[in-house]
Amino acid sequence: MRQKNELKVYNTLSGKKEDFVPRVEGKVGMYVCGPTTYNYIHLGNARPIVVFDTVRRFLEYLGYEVTYVQNFTDVDDKIINRAQEENDSPLELAARYIEEYFKDAKDLNVRQASVHPRVSQHMPDIIRFIQILLDKGFAYLMDGDVYFSVESFQEYGKLSKRDLEDLQAGARVEVSEKKKHPGDFALWKKAKAGEPSWNSPWGEGRPGWHIECSAMSNKYLGKTFDIHAGGMDLIFPHHENEIAQSEACHGAPMARYWLHNGFITVNQEKMSKSLGNFFLLRDILQKYPGQVIRFYLLSTHYRSPIDFDNEKLEAAQKGWERLQTTQRLLQETLGVENIAQDKAETEKEELLAYKERFLAAMNEDFNTALAIAVLFELAREINVLITEAAAEPQKKEELREAGQLFAELSEVLGLNFSLAQGLSAEFAQEVEGS
Ligand code: ZN
Repeated sequence: MRQKNELKVYNTLSGKKEDFVPRVEGKVGMYVCGPTTYNYIHLGNARPIVVFDTVRRFLEYLGYEVTYVQNFTDVDDKIINRAQEENDSPLELAARYIEEYFKDAKDLNVRQASVHPRVSQHMPDIIRFIQILLDKGFAYLMDGDVYFSVESFQEYGKLSKRDLEDLQAGARVEVSEKKKHPGDFALWKKAKAGEPSWNSPWGEGRPGWHIECSAMSNKYLGKTFDIHAGGMDLIFPHHENEIAQSEACHGAPMARYWLHNGFITVNQEKMSKSLGNFFLLRDILQKYPGQVIRFYLLSTHYRSPIDFDNEKLEAAQKGWERLQTTQRLLQETLGVENIAQDKAETEKEELLAYKERFLAAMNEDFNTALAIAVLFELAREINVLITEAAAEPQKKEELREAGQLFAELSEVLGLNFSLAQGLSAEFAQEVEGS
């Protein structure tokens, strides 16, 4: 039996670790804010994609049926600017980078979402949503733009723990004479010449950034869903604004659990374009296999900051190769077909103890760092069994069961050590010789 009720997750909204109880027994609805597709994805995008893919895999491993929604922002200033620079159509440029996203995701062994909604394909849903906010008095029309009025939503600031006075002085809000309050944000922007635009009751224009996630999560997951996730840089203003829009519209909580991954630094510095360390994942994939990058990202708890530099990635590669070597020796000893089963069927207490510790780590707010440590211990046990099996063939059955468990638990983390990548010949020799 799977231990369904032991999962605890840290909820940014309450600031506490809570027992995970989904709205509908056995089912989880989950929304993750996806990339704005004006370029290849950068490292900052890769972390939430890997982390929340792992959360999804673990929920499924626990037996939940997960509906996983991850959007693409394919209508945005950055896309329009880039398209103008390249003399391209913004929608075509965005569509091209969406294709590139799927290549990177595949390299990271990130599964496709149940739905990948795009802004450009959901205009009627977005327009309908904005109209409801206008009708209910949470939004106002100003010169062809529509703004959300933060003062009209009493609980504004509850996720990021800010109040409207902070916003008055806030640095991250756009000041405009058109707005009633500096914290008000655009739901709809009046068309400018040369930009893609859509027809609406308020004239030609395009949506602001935040409204898409409220409209698309509602469409695929309903008014209230279980998990809303993203990078912690999205807590304010993006997720705060999503909450305001959705809860003003529906009069119901948007999501029960808000999960946010920590920042990425590069050589201990915050990643930013101006510092020139704004790495595209593609550049790093030239040097390290996607599996190694995934392994590295999961070797730190998702809420902690993580730093990238060459030394750390090289160390990660060595660690990953050690586990891959175990997998390879296992395959050589037993034959691939004997360990390729999808579920382990062991009743041996020593092996079940590894599984229990792995589950306990993941149940504690998805502690992948600890789960990976358990994988290393299991690999050590397997290495001993491989040596023993050479002298005592009857050990092979125990080895087979241990190997299946190793494959099963690796798969929960999206790590696949039988993939033929990442192992340097030199390292393989070293391990075999030892
Ligand atoms: Zn979003």
